[in-house]
Amino acid sequence: MQPATKAVEITEQRAFCCDCRCQHSIPRLPAADAARELMKSMDLELATDSLYGEARGKMFGVLVCRSETGETVILRAFSGQYNGEWQVRGWVPPLFDVEAFHRLNTPVEREIKALGRRADGFTRGSEQHKTLLAQRKRMSQQLMRDIHALYSLHNFRGEERSLGHFFPSDRGIPTGAGDCCAPKLLNHAAIKKLTPLGLIEFFHGKTNRSATRHEGEFYPACEEKCAPLLGFLLCGINELETPCRS
Ligand SMILES: [Zn+2]
Ligand SMILES: [Zn+2]
Repeated sequence: MQPATKAVEITEQRAFCCDCRCQHSIPRLPAADAARELMKSMDLELATDSLYGEARGKMFGVLVCRSETGETVILRAFSGQYNGEWQVRGWVPPLFDVEAFHRLNTPVEREIKALGRRADGFTRGSEQHKTLLAQRKRMSQQLMRDIHALYSLHNFRGEERSLGHFFPSDRGIPTGAGDCCAPKLLNHAAIKKLTPLGLIEFFHGKTNRSATRHEGEFYPACEEKCAPLLGFLLCGINELETPCRS
C-alpha cells in the first residue's frame, strides 16, 4: 500500500526551465487567503454535489495577480472538466479553444461509439470483433493526438508552445497533461498580461480513492503532468516582479 502523501507546507512552487537552465518560482502564501475564501464559498460558486459522490473531489487553484493598471485580480481554476464542462463562467478556460475541441471531438466520438456497437454484434474473439476493436483503438489514439495539438501554452516572455514540445515523443503525452489548475492559471495570466503574485492548489470534496488528497489541504503541482510544463509557463515571471518599464 502506498503511504498517503502528506499535504505539504511549501512556500513556493518551483520548476526547472529548459531554456534558461535554471529554476523559476512563484510563492504560494499570497494566494492562501483567496484559496480559503474560495473553499468557504464553493457551494455558491458551483454545484458541488458531484464532488461528494462517486466522482469524488477535485483539485482547484487560485492565482493572485496584479493587472497592468495595478489592480489585484484573482484567477480561479478547476482541474480538468467540471461536471462535463471545459468552460465555466468565472473560471479560467482550458489551454485550447473549446469550440474547436467540440468541432473535432463530437463527430469522431460518435464514430468511435458506433464502432464499439458494431463490434458488439460479433462474437468476442472473432476476427471481425478484433478488427473493429483495433480500428476503434487507432481512432481514439488519433483523436487524442489531434486534441493535444489544440493545446497552446503561453509564458511571460510572450512565447507560445505546443503541448507535444514538453513530452518525449516515444512516451507520448500523459492523459490530462495541461488540464491541471497551475498550467491553466499561468497560461491565462500570461495571455491577459497579468503579473502573478501567488499560486496555490487545493483539494475540495470527498477524499480521492488512493487517499492521497484530502479536502482543504494544499498540494504542490503534480510531477508527471505539470512539472514538465511549469518551467516554461513560469518563464519571464521573475523579471515581471521588478518593474523595469518606466
Ligand atoms: Zn498537474
Ligand atoms: Zn526560463
